[in-house]
Amino acid sequence: MKYLFGPVNSRRLGISLGIDLLPYKTCSLDCIYCECGSTTLLTTERREYVNTVDVINELNEYLSSKPNLDYITFSGSGEPTLHSGIGKIISFLKSYYPEYRICVLTNSTLLHLKEVRDEIISADVIVPSLDAMTDDSLHKILRPHDSVTVDNILRGITSLSREFPGKIIIEYFVIPGINDSDEEIDLLKNYLLTIDSAVVQLNYLSRPGAEKNVPKASYDQLKYISGRLSPVNVQIIDTALDNSNDKEIEKAVLDKISTYTTTEDLSLSFGLRQSDMIKILKRLEDSGLIESFNSGRWRRKA
Ligand code: SF4
Repeated sequence: MKYLFGPVNSRRLGISLGIDLLPYKTCSLDCIYCECGSTTLLTTERREYVNTVDVINELNEYLSSKPNLDYITFSGSGEPTLHSGIGKIISFLKSYYPEYRICVLTNSTLLHLKEVRDEIISADVIVPSLDAMTDDSLHKILRPHDSVTVDNILRGITSLSREFPGKIIIEYFVIPGINDSDEEIDLLKNYLLTIDSAVVQLNYLSRPGAEKNVPKASYDQLKYISGRLSPVNVQIIDTALDNSNDKEIEKAVLDKISTYTTTEDLSLSFGLRQSDMIKILKRLEDSGLIESFNSGRWRRKA
């Protein structure tokens, strides 16, 4: 396959088929933590980087065998909204394969453009990154194209949150010593409180990034940030946990359950399929530690 990759068992989305619409490595940012390596074409120009019809044909061929997937995800080795055909590809999937949910991972740098928001509006989940609330963090972490500003990123996410009927999960990649100061986290919180039903996922380095020696946030640091962001709905992407260690996962799940925690939120947070998360929740329920209510919601027992 030329444009598709996986399916992979994604931390957040379960079984996810990836679509890569950009030649390596085309992006509007050059993040120090990028798992794909350094950006070689730093640009904000939207165009048809790869042939849209070829991508659709490859998708059609792959999906015609009805593979078992939780999501089809636009991601890969660059910023997917740079491709001017992304809207056509999403429309094709919604028309011919509506049984698959669509996720767009975006670095948010083009979301201030109405045309971009319109093209991705029929996805089911959009995950915009928001890793910097100040110019200092923007330049230290994201090393952007000259035209990218924090203001445009915030305006874009705000507009998207007003227009998009699906689920938005904002990702904040924590780099200790750069974007984790109390001041920056307070700016993040104040911004997130302006967005209806904001869910923010705290992410951190789990694999080597483009630059060596990028510091990795500890679980305790992420928990501190999570507390400081309260009452924003925060999830920690839990790569620190060893997925083979059931007891550790159960403890972490229990730790995270609050009055309004849904099975879906927990699955996304831990990168587990809902069916696997339900097994863990059932074990906790059998142990008398939690109870379900309002179908799909969980709370700790007093
Ligand atoms: S936005 Fe994504 S693809 Fe682009 S450099 Fe950053 S991490 Fe890599």
